[in-house]
Amino acid sequence: MYTQNFNLKNYNTFGINVFAAQFAQANNLNTLQQIVADNKNQNNKLLILGGGSNILFTQNYNGLVIKNNLLGINIVQQDADFVYLQAHAGEPWHNFVMYCVSHAYGGLENLALIPGSVGAAPMQNIGAYGTEIKDTFYQLTALEISTNTLHTFSNTDCQFGYRQSIFKQQLKNKFIVTSVTFKLTKHNHNYNTSYGAIYTELQQLKSTTPNLQNIAQAVINIRNSKLPNPAQIGNAGSFFKNPTVPNSIYQQLQTQFSGIVGYAQNNNQTKIAAGWLIEQCGFKGAQKGNAGCHAKQALVLVNLGGATGAEIVQLSNNIIHAVQQKFGITLEPEVNII
Ligand SMILES: Cc1cc2nc3c(=O)[nH]c(=O)nc-3n(C[C@H](O)[C@H](O)[C@H](O)COP(=O)(O)OP(=O)(O)OC[C@H]3O[C@@H](n4cnc5c(N)ncnc54)[C@H](O)[C@@H]3O)c2cc1C
Repeated sequence: MYTQNFNLKNYNTFGINVFAAQFAQANNLNTLQQIVADNKNQNNKLLILGGGSNILFTQNYNGLVIKNNLLGINIVQQDADFVYLQAHAGEPWHNFVMYCVSHAYGGLENLALIPGSVGAAPMQNIGAYGTEIKDTFYQLTALEISTNTLHTFSNTDCQFGYRQSIFKQQLKNKFIVTSVTFKLTKHNHNYNTSYGAIYTELQQLKSTTPNLQNIAQAVINIRNSKLPNPAQIGNAGSFFKNPTVPNSIYQQLQTQFSGIVGYAQNNNQTKIAAGWLIEQCGFKGAQKGNAGCHAKQALVLVNLGGATGAEIVQLSNNIIHAVQQKFGITLEPEVNII
């Protein structure tokens, strides 16, 4: 069940060449519980891995890495209007979204083509094109590592925020998500086509009436045109979160920087496009050693070939420093740096 000194290069989308002291794959809940029990006896540190698309390894992992392969999608409940669909944590996220689209279950179509696993999606409340999983999330089950028992978390329990949940805060590294249930519409879908280029893309697809299929396809087309494919160039999507500032600060920034891009939020806050800030500091397309800032999207840091995690971190630190100096804003990484 265990492999020693396991190469993780193909298990993280940055393609960083690091090793795990121990590696195990869990294909079912019993195996996962057995691994957690064995590990407790060994007093090893533990990292749970999905698709490795939101992780940056900066060194070898001196502990146990568990690859979550729990598979399966099933209906747990339904009524006239909604279906409660449970997906096990190892299901690839995009496949799950397309399963929903093909079964005419509405709510996740704007989240097509996000890499990674279902189990990791609640970690940072994944979001794109005006939708976040918190909008359709019903509940999850997770294994508490210290007691090896299953617990259920409701939407409120997860304390979702922008790229945030309780599992990145108080409960960090304490639970392994085993399944997630979404409450999806069976008809009267709430199509969200107002965000970004979706509407324009739908017109290009000659789809005047939105439906689940053409919205997912529009999102796929837009993402393919903008974001580097990790199979071709190592990356973990947006490296930084978009910073949120009080409206008063945003207004001051607007007087100094007329092109600044911001989106009004609740509570008198504005979310600023981090990509624009980074671009203004001259990093778009920049290279530092084997690390780079993507030429089409400054928010995405890339492995140009053979980069170490430390090189990527160095570039990210340079960016944080430059943005701080120019705008007085401190960027926070979205990627989990290990
Ligand atoms: C090209 C590209 C585009 C992206 N676009 C987006 C986007 O639009 N929106 C967005 O929100 N994100 C985006 N991401 C980031 C990433 O795809 C998501 O965060 C995804 O949910 C990560 O899933 P994963 O399985 O790869 O997680 P991993 O990278 O394997 O893990 C991420 C974190 O979650 C933990 N974790 C993983 N699985 C579990 C589990 N079962 N239980 C408990 N903890 C777990 C890990 O320990 C780690 O801390 C993008 C990434 C790439 C490469």
